[in-house]
Amino acid sequence: MKASIQKFLDSAQTFQCPICGNALHTAGSSLQCPDRHTFDIAAKGNISFLRSQHAHDGLYNQSFFENRSALLSVGLYDHIVREVAHDVSRLPDSHATTLLDVGCGDGTLTKRLQSLITQSSFDSQHQREQAVRELTIFACDISSLAISIASRGSNTIRWFMADLANLPITDSSMDIITDIFSPANYEEFRRVLRPQGSLIKVIPGKHHLMELRQEIAKSHGEQPKGYSNDDVVQGIEQHCTIEHITTASATLQLSKAQWEQFLAMTPLMFHLDKTSIDLDSLRNLTIEAEIVQATMQ
Ligand SMILES: [Zn+2]
Repeated sequence: MKASIQKFLDSAQTFQCPICGNALHTAGSSLQCPDRHTFDIAAKGNISFLRSQHAHDGLYNQSFFENRSALLSVGLYDHIVREVAHDVSRLPDSHATTLLDVGCGDGTLTKRLQSLITQSSFDSQHQREQAVRELTIFACDISSLAISIASRGSNTIRWFMADLANLPITDSSMDIITDIFSPANYEEFRRVLRPQGSLIKVIPGKHHLMELRQEIAKSHGEQPKGYSNDDVVQGIEQHCTIEHITTASATLQLSKAQWEQFLAMTPLMFHLDKTSIDLDSLRNLTIEAEIVQATMQ
């Protein structure tokens, strides 16, 4: 059996049928429930748990994800993923075995997180060996295009397409959920996390994309407005107990080509005319996040 398929067969007990909620078992190179709802494992190494394939790509197309993947591969968010890996490594529970990354998009950050967790972010050789042996990573997104890009190449991450409001994951089976710049569904997080499991949620920091916000305001003849994530933090507090918040901030110089890629992928520009932005006046970009580590209430 190919490793890209075997990794799911090994984890079958972690998945449940998104249609009827029954446990899934292996059936050839598929996962199947007792009611015979069947989910094929693609040879590439992903599974779709969505009932219709193409309805969920919305605003995004192949070039959006290719762009994003190219830009993130140069390490634009590396300081943030490092902080997430650090949070994972210092969780009080050293016996964590499962991690689910929700809204993983093209998977660049999930792969980077896996490599940091398993290779470099641990303090001692002993802990590092334990992490390599034990942490199984699952990653999902609603976009089939994104998961198709994410599952390229060989890696051990279990990639799947699913609706965040109906995760095909059994109750209390995850030790850690990571959510990097992606929407949350706290009821589902509570259900799939085991008691005392950790949510690590990454949200934009106060200075995130400061230079671009200023340029957008200028192009509209307005004063730049400050950005606040207070309402996002309050939203988290309604569902979770926040253990700690870390800020990760870096100001990077982007080439003109990278700026073009960035403008094509940032939600800030989705409803704006890109030609209104003076590309020549853009140089540095601040990428800032707050990494919120929380337990569910
Ligand atoms: Zn079923």
